[in-house]
Amino acid sequence: MLELRGVNTFYGNIQALRDVSLHIREGEIVTLIGANGAGKSTTLMTICGGIPPRSGQILFRGQPIHALKPNRIVALGISQVPEGRLIFPDLTVQENLDMGAFLRNDARGIRADLDYVFDLFPILAQRRRQAGGTLSGGEQQMLAISRAIMARPSLLLLDEPSLGLAPIIIQQIFSIIEKINADGATVFLVEQNANQALRIANRGYVMETGRIVMEDDAATLLSNEAVRKAYLGM
Ligand code: ATP
Repeated sequence: MLELRGVNTFYGNIQALRDVSLHIREGEIVTLIGANGAGKSTTLMTICGGIPPRSGQILFRGQPIHALKPNRIVALGISQVPEGRLIFPDLTVQENLDMGAFLRNDARGIRADLDYVFDLFPILAQRRRQAGGTLSGGEQQMLAISRAIMARPSLLLLDEPSLGLAPIIIQQIFSIIEKINADGATVFLVEQNANQALRIANRGYVMETGRIVMEDDAATLLSNEAVRKAYLGM
C-alpha cells in the first residue's frame, strides 16, 4: 500500500533520514520504534508531504506521492495524528472534527463517520460543545485520532499516541487503534513505547539516527535480545 524507497530527508544541512526504505501492506498495523531523535516523526512528516524528501521515492498504491502537497496526500487517503496531538484548543470538539472532514463534501458519509468516532469515544459526544483545550490529555488524544478519522483515511499515521498519558488511558488508546484497524484502516504507528506498539503490530521497524537498522515480525522483535535491551528496558 505504501512504500518508501531510499528516502533521504534534510532539515537544511542536517540529514534526518538516511536511505530509509520500508513498506506497509493493506490491512496491517506496522510500527516504527526508536529512541528520541531517531527520525520517527520526520519519517511521518516526509510521508505526509510536510518535509519533502531530497531524494528517494514514496509510493502510495503504486503512485508517487513524494512531490505532492499535503492536502493532495490527505485527499488520496492518508491522514496523520501528529505528535503532541495539536488539536485546535479554541474550537469546540465538534468544530475540531469538522476540520478533519474539511476536504470532503459527502455529507452522508461525514455524518456516518461522526457517528463512528462518537461510538469509539463516547466521551467526545458528551463534550461536543466544549472547547478542545479544556479536555484532558487523554481526551485530546481521542479527539486528535477522531479528527484524523474524519478525513476517512485508508492509511492512518499515528505519532506517539501514548505520549504523556496515564497507563490506563494508553491501554484504551491502543485497543481503539486495534479496533480502527479491524474496521478496515491500515495503521502506521510511531512509538517510543515499543512494548505496547509491538504487542498490537503485525510488523515493526527499528530506527537509529535516521536509518532503519532492523525489521521483522512484531513477535520476533519483541523476543529479540538487542531490542529488549535497547527499547523494552529488559
Ligand atoms: P522524538 O521521539 O523525540 O519525536 P523522533 O525519532 O521522532 O524523536 P525526529 O523528531 O524525527 O525524531 O528528529 C530526527 C532528527 O532531526 C533529530 O536529530 C532532530 O534533532 C532533527 N530535527 C527534527 N526537527 C528538526 C527541525 N525542525 N530542524 C532541524 N532539525 C530537526
